Amino acid sequence: MHDRLPLIAGNWKMHKTPAEAREWCAGFRSRLPSLPPGVEVAVCPPFTALEPVSSALRGHPAWVAAQTISDQPSGPHTGEISGSMVFSCGARGVILGHSERRAMGETDVMVAARVRAALDAGLRPIICIGESLAEREEEVTLQVLTTQLTAAIAVVRPSEVDRVVIAYEPIWAIGTGRSATPEMAQESTAAIRELARKRLDANRLRILYGGSVTPATARQLLVSPDIDGALVGGASLDPESFAMIVEAAG
Ligand code: PEP
Repeated sequence: MHDRLPLIAGNWKMHKTPAEAREWCAGFRSRLPSLPPGVEVAVCPPFTALEPVSSALRGHPAWVAAQTISDQPSGPHTGEISGSMVFSCGARGVILGHSERRAMGETDVMVAARVRAALDAGLRPIICIGESLAEREEEVTLQVLTTQLTAAIAVVRPSEVDRVVIAYEPIWAIGTGRSATPEMAQESTAAIRELARKRLDANRLRILYGGSVTPATARQLLVSPDIDGALVGGASLDPESFAMIVEAAG
């Protein structure tokens, strides 16, 4: 038995102006003025909507997270944004190592440095790992997950396990409408938990599934024993479909 609270996190990616973000929050709050018991929710807008979303969700139990941060606390890093800066805009977590950022050159070493920076800034890192279609077909999924996970959690102190979230996101399932089957997602999340056990109390580690989760597929994915919630991209942009996924976790 475990008492891991399911987490549903909405990754808005590069969508929504501050005005659109406020409209989303109003819609979400009127649809779910409180959350179903036993479910946690995080909303991850672009940097420019962090403060508007934090304000618009004040008094609501959903928390706010950024989509990346710098690995540096401050300094001459033009265009970068630090963990303490997003914290001051109301963020309490941050997505790190999303495959869309890894595709732009973010390496395991860079992701690990951001994980440490996030924890030092008081943020909860949501660390994304996952294999490409070619890697799945070559049957190297476990090796890929091992490499990415090992690097990312090497910087996490065992006492910090409750603040860390892993998101298993097979790249071929992201934004494609082609979700992993519940069996595939369970197999990978269970493997991740076993790998994490080498360093952390893995029974306390929350592991999400992400990749084309919709209101129609959420429940069947979320009943798997090692899946502790979902990282939702496209379906989080509409407050109604996001609320339906939150309810499916309840
Ligand atoms: C994501 O961006 O993390 C994601 C899972 O996207 P989607 O739900 O659109 O596949």
